Amino acid sequence: MSSVPVAVVTGSNKGIGLAIVRALCKQFPGDVYLTCRDPGRGQAAVEQLQQEGLRPLFHQLDIDDLQSIRALRDFLKEKYGGLNVLVNNAGIAFKVHDTTPFAVQAEVTLKTNFFGTRNVCTELLPLMKPYGRVVNVSSMVSSSALGRCSQELQQKFRSDSITEEELVQLMTKFVEDTKKSIHEKEGWPNTAYGVSKIGVTVLSRIQARLLNEQRKGDHILLNACCPGWVRTDMAGPKATKSPEEGAETPVYLALLPSSADAPHGQFVSDKTVRPW
Ligand code: NAP
Repeated sequence: MSSVPVAVVTGSNKGIGLAIVRALCKQFPGDVYLTCRDPGRGQAAVEQLQQEGLRPLFHQLDIDDLQSIRALRDFLKEKYGGLNVLVNNAGIAFKVHDTTPFAVQAEVTLKTNFFGTRNVCTELLPLMKPYGRVVNVSSMVSSSALGRCSQELQQKFRSDSITEEELVQLMTKFVEDTKKSIHEKEGWPNTAYGVSKIGVTVLSRIQARLLNEQRKGDHILLNACCPGWVRTDMAGPKATKSPEEGAETPVYLALLPSSADAPHGQFVSDKTVRPW
């Protein structure tokens, strides 16, 4: 078994994820895994970084596929005996003018951004080694969408005692409410992406709390973050940040020194803790 530290970035064949892998290859003292659902796209991205003189490794990972997540888990367990850095970056967003029915957009978006990310956490968080760092890439849109939820929902999403099961129930209810076209009446904002990222931010707060309760002595730090508005296939060419600039906050959180005991359980953008 290798004692080399290991970092994994989900959805890292392009965009912010690729820029995070690039930065980690330069700064992280260990093996860095570029992961991607499509091996062809993954290999092309690895070759691109190799041409820059970097040495990322590759593993297939589709966060919508539990078997794929478990294959990565078993590989990490066997080869490294765990994991030092996990960046949950993979995500999707329908374009503003996409005509797919809202209920379908809600189901598809929540499936990857919330349920897929949660499944990765369920399988990989138990592997985190002491002083491990977990970064869940959320979005500022989670904050603005929270502000457009009913007071009752806001209270639940800001609660310091909400459980993962309760959060899953709420995310499932959103999808069901969109199918019945009652989501606005039920206090939800009209954004599937926004609700999915509320899920990611609240999940991070819950997971950080559980780490405090169950693994306090292991000094693991887990945070949600927003990369900013970044020029990628998702956000388009008018966005203000380059992918490298978008990677800065996730990489900062992934490389928090072992002496750090904060931030933890926070929502961070531009390397600054934001109110939730
Ligand atoms: P992007 O260029 O569209 O890249 C998204 C990445 O996620 C791609 O590698 C994609 O792989 C991957 N992905 C999607 N579904 C996946 C799945 N089921 N399993 C594994 N990988 C999957 O978008 P981006 O802008 O870099 O976004 C990265 C993260 O930042 C996302 O979580 C996004 O919500 C967040 N974010 C972005 C912005 C922004 O302005 N760009 C702002 C706030 C937050 P494929 O190539 O196979 O599709």
